[in-house]
Formats: sequence, C-alpha cells, structure tokens
Amino acid sequence: MSLKTIGQIKKGIKSLKETEQFVNSFLVNIEKIFRFELNIKRKAKKKIDTSPAYSGNIKKKIEQGEQIADFSKIEINRNFLIKAFHKICEIRKSFNSEKEEEIKKIEEAIDNGKIDFTKIQKNLALHKLSYFNTLSKKISVSKELLHSISLTVYGPIFELCVEMRKDLIKDYVWKKGSCPFCGTNTAMAKFEKEVGRRVLWCPLCGAEWVYKRLECPFCGNDDQKLLRFFYLDDKSPYRVDVCDVCKGYIRTVDERKRDEEIKTNFEIEDMKTLYLNDIAEKEGYKKI
Ligand SMILES: [Zn+2]
Ligand SMILES: [Zn+2]
Repeated sequence: MSLKTIGQIKKGIKSLKETEQFVNSFLVNIEKIFRFELNIKRKAKKKIDTSPAYSGNIKKKIEQGEQIADFSKIEINRNFLIKAFHKICEIRKSFNSEKEEEIKKIEEAIDNGKIDFTKIQKNLALHKLSYFNTLSKKISVSKELLHSISLTVYGPIFELCVEMRKDLIKDYVWKKGSCPFCGTNTAMAKFEKEVGRRVLWCPLCGAEWVYKRLECPFCGNDDQKLLRFFYLDDKSPYRVDVCDVCKGYIRTVDERKRDEEIKTNFEIEDMKTLYLNDIAEKEGYKKI
C-alpha cells in the first residue's frame, strides 16, 4: 500500500466508488484494511530497523542487475507481530463472518506457537507460496486466507524498507521487469505525464522503477511488430500492453491521457483495473 495518509486513503476509496465497480460494504472493508496497513507502517517506522535488509555493495548490485534487498533479514519483534496478527484477525472476523472459524484457528495457532513468524517472513520475501500450502494444512485453514492475512502484516513493513532507500534507484533505468528490491514481477506500469517515461510497479513492496519504453518487461523482446497494446475506450488512461513472444501482459496507466493532475496510486489503480486482467486472459495472454 503506497497510501501514506488517511487523506490519501479516503481519496482512494472515493475514486474506487466513482468507478461503480464495487459495492459499498466492500469499500468500507477495504478502507479498514488500508487503515490497518497504514498503522502498521507508522508503528514499524518507530520500532523496526529495516536496514539489515541491505547488505554488501549495493552500488555494484544495481550495476549488475542483482536484487538489492532481502526482506527476510529485517528483524521484527515477536510481540509486534503477535499484536499485528491478532488485530488483523479481529478486523477480518468483523467482515468475513463466513471465515470466522478459520480465522479463530489462525489466532489459536499464534497463541500456541504453531506459527513460526520467521518462516512466514522468509517465504513471503522469497515468494515461496508452497510454504503456505504446508502451513495451512497443518493448522487446517485455507492457504489463501493465511497468505492474505500474512501479507497484510508484512507488506507494509516491506514497503517501509523500500521507502527508506528509494533514492537508490531513483531515475535509474533498471533493465528488468522484476523488482530491483525484492525480485517480484511487475504487475502494472505507467507512462508519466511530462516526458512519458515508463515506470513499473512492484505489487509486493510498492517499489517503482524506470524501465525502457518499448521493450517487454517479462522477456526483453523489443521487436515492435510483436509488441502492441489495446484499450476499451480511447479516452481512458487505462490500456493493456501485450507481448506476442512470451504472451505476457501488463496493465498500464497512461498519465498523458489524464487532464487533471491526478497522481497515480498503483494500489488503487490495481483494483480499478482488475477487469483488464480478465480481458487480457481471454485474449490468450497470461500473468507472468
Ligand atoms: Zn518489490
Ligand atoms: Zn515478452
């Protein structure tokens, strides 16, 4: 979540509402999640030192295109995590009543020490979703629920870790479509209003980096005949860029098509443009 103030959260919710894609109760609940995440980030800023995620010669790593951060190295106080997990479980129970029993099982597992936070952190950082499969079977809950609850707690901490050092890649043209900080594949892009730079976004840590305008971020294809884009409405700032070599696609916000000075907030744009995923997939493209 790159929403940095309550004001930004409210503005984001308002703009989601304006799309008429979401029912009110969903927006009320998503606002609760956004507020929880902001709170985690604010508390983490005071209590957690994220610097252990950065080691070695960072400059050299950037030059060689190596991942700069290792989120599994951030040291997080156990009590901080216990409180955060209990709080998010409470929030989720308040609107996921059909999952109440499962959420209670997660709470019990935390209290009985059956959840190893270090392992959750490491596997989230390394994108090893198979771990959530194993753990969810062990405590009899769905892996999606366990993963989403864990991500709501750790996501803001990973973001904070990146925000503290975003100067490292500022204006640098990164040669990959995977995140310079954590290695996650990009989920969205934007063309900036002023000079039309193409900026990619990481859905895990919120990092944004400059990437070549006319190259596929997934396979590096730069044959213009095999790259194209489509949109549903030529006045809309949203489009989907596709590559006919790897069949990957990326949802893109074209800020040049926006009249007003609206700042792109990927967290919100991601939700607004979920329908484009369905369209791209129906067209035979896939999420990479
Ligand atoms: Zn990242
Ligand atoms: Zn490609």
